[in-house]
Amino acid sequence: MFDTNRHGFGAKEWSEHSVNIQIGCANACIYCYAAHNANRFNLRPRSEWAMEEFTKRSAMTSYPARDGVVMFPSSHDITPFNVNEYIRVARLILSRGNRLLIVSKPRLDCIREVISKLAEWKSQIMLRFTIGSMNSDTCAFWEPGAPSPQERISCLQEAYSEGFRTSVSIEPMLGGINAAISVVDAAAPFVTDTIWIGKMNKARLRVPAEYAYAVDSIVMLQGDERIMALHRRYSDCPVIRWKDSIKEVVARHGN
Ligand code: SF4
Repeated sequence: MFDTNRHGFGAKEWSEHSVNIQIGCANACIYCYAAHNANRFNLRPRSEWAMEEFTKRSAMTSYPARDGVVMFPSSHDITPFNVNEYIRVARLILSRGNRLLIVSKPRLDCIREVISKLAEWKSQIMLRFTIGSMNSDTCAFWEPGAPSPQERISCLQEAYSEGFRTSVSIEPMLGGINAAISVVDAAAPFVTDTIWIGKMNKARLRVPAEYAYAVDSIVMLQGDERIMALHRRYSDCPVIRWKDSIKEVVARHGN
C-alpha cells in the first residue's frame, strides 16, 4: 500500500526511496527546504533556485526493483523543461514493478503527458498533488512559479477521471484552518485515497528574512488552538492523514 504507517519525517512519511533528476525548481516556493539546503551547502545560491538543470541521474538507464514506495520527484517538480526525461525515468522505475508516488504542484500540460504515457502502469502509481490554499493570490505569493490552485484541481480531476489513484497534500498549509478546509472541500470529490495536512515546517529557518512578516502571519494562523480545532473537525474522517507537524501538536495537547 502507498499510505502505511511509516516512522519518519517529511518525505519519509510517504515513501522509502526518493528519486530526482535535476537541481533547481521552477516553482521557486519561498518556503522550499531544498532551496534552503542547496544554499546552505553551497550547491546553489537561493536566488538561482528557479533555474532548472539536469543532474547526472537524469541520464540513468536502469532502476532496480525496490521494497517500498519510490517518490519521484521530491526536490523539484514536473515541468515543461523536464517532462520528457521525467517520463523516461518513471518508465524505468515502473517497468521493474516498483510503486511510484508522483508528488507535484501539477501543470495541466505536463500531467496530461504523464498520465497518458504512464497509463499502462496505472495500478502501480499514486498521484499526490500539493495544494496549500485555494486562494490564487496566496499561492502566487508563496509559490510564485507554480500553477494556480484551480489548475491543480483540474489536474486532480483529470487524473481521477482517467482512473488513477489520487491523493492531495495540504502541506504546507498556506493559511489558517479555514483555508485548509476549503482545499479539502474542493479536492475531496476527486481523491481516491488520502488528503494529508501539515503545517509549514521550520518557516523561520527556511523562509528568507525579507518575508518574516508573512511567516509571522502563518505562525499566528497555525497556532496550537487552531490546529487542534482542525484536528477535531476531521477526527472521524478516514481520508484525512496528519503530517508529523500536526501530530506533534496533538501529542502536546491530547485529543
Ligand atoms: S515545488 Fe517543492 S522543490 Fe519546488 S520550489 Fe516548491 S518546495 Fe521547492
